Amino acid sequence: MDPKIALITGASRGLGRNTALQLAAQGVDLVLTYRSQREEAQSLLAEVQALGRRAVILPLDIAKTDSIPAFVVELRQQLREVWDAEQFDFLVNNAGIGIHQAFAETTPEQFDELMRIHLKGPYFLTQALLPLISDGGRIVNLSTGLTRFALPGYSAYAAMKGGIEVLTRYLAKELGPRGIAVNAVAPGAIETDFGGGLVRDVADVNRFVASQTALGRVGVPDDIGPVIASLLAPAGRWINAQRIEASGGMFV
Ligand code: NDP
Repeated sequence: MDPKIALITGASRGLGRNTALQLAAQGVDLVLTYRSQREEAQSLLAEVQALGRRAVILPLDIAKTDSIPAFVVELRQQLREVWDAEQFDFLVNNAGIGIHQAFAETTPEQFDELMRIHLKGPYFLTQALLPLISDGGRIVNLSTGLTRFALPGYSAYAAMKGGIEVLTRYLAKELGPRGIAVNAVAPGAIETDFGGGLVRDVADVNRFVASQTALGRVGVPDDIGPVIASLLAPAGRWINAQRIEASGGMFV
């Protein structure tokens, strides 16, 4: 049987990168997108290939919805050239940024940027990719623990992620007839470059998060990539339309 192929947006760093390595170890081939960090994406490509998987890297700025048609053309070409395939199996809508700003000071520009990256981008990318996702495929959308609990400064970011959770259920309903399962993974605070590396690099923030987490520490990428990969493994096939929080028990 041909290996499954997953497309991960924002794979150059953090959770996307970790997910790519987990999936590669699981025998899944990969289309990896990056926005600015081409070298990071290239080094990930080499790691994935060293694990014996076929993979390609493609540039994608999810904030620019008008670039999606050209991305789809390039993706089709790569699928044909590298896999002799017309479709792929798994989509992971992971790319994202964090903006920490009090509700009272959030600007329309910040709101729009978060909306383009976290809601409009995944919405229209997924729409454009529908013909390329195989029947029986799966989609994982990245949400956040911040949709369940409120921390000051994340109103716009968390509102977009709330939108992605609603979209997840709608996609599950509308794509169900094609056998496509759609879930959202909601990480707690994880030590990555996200939000300028705040949770990883600022000791007070790190301590605060750890103190509010039942398991007593901040998350690391290895806490999340395997969760996403497990949803895309054969054993995950009956999980659908769910928000799965992986936060070590934040604010319980
Ligand atoms: P990182 O900052 O470590 O990595 C972000 C990734 O997204 C990079 O690969 C980056 O590409 C890519 N990216 C950023 N902006 C765009 C864009 N406009 N278009 C396409 N790609 C883009 O973040 P994380 O790995 O931590 O975050 C991944 C996802 O997880 C995000 O959706 C985030 O909201 C979510 N999340 C993260 C949490 C955390 O605490 N870390 C907690 C909960 C959710 P490049 O490097 O090439 O610029």
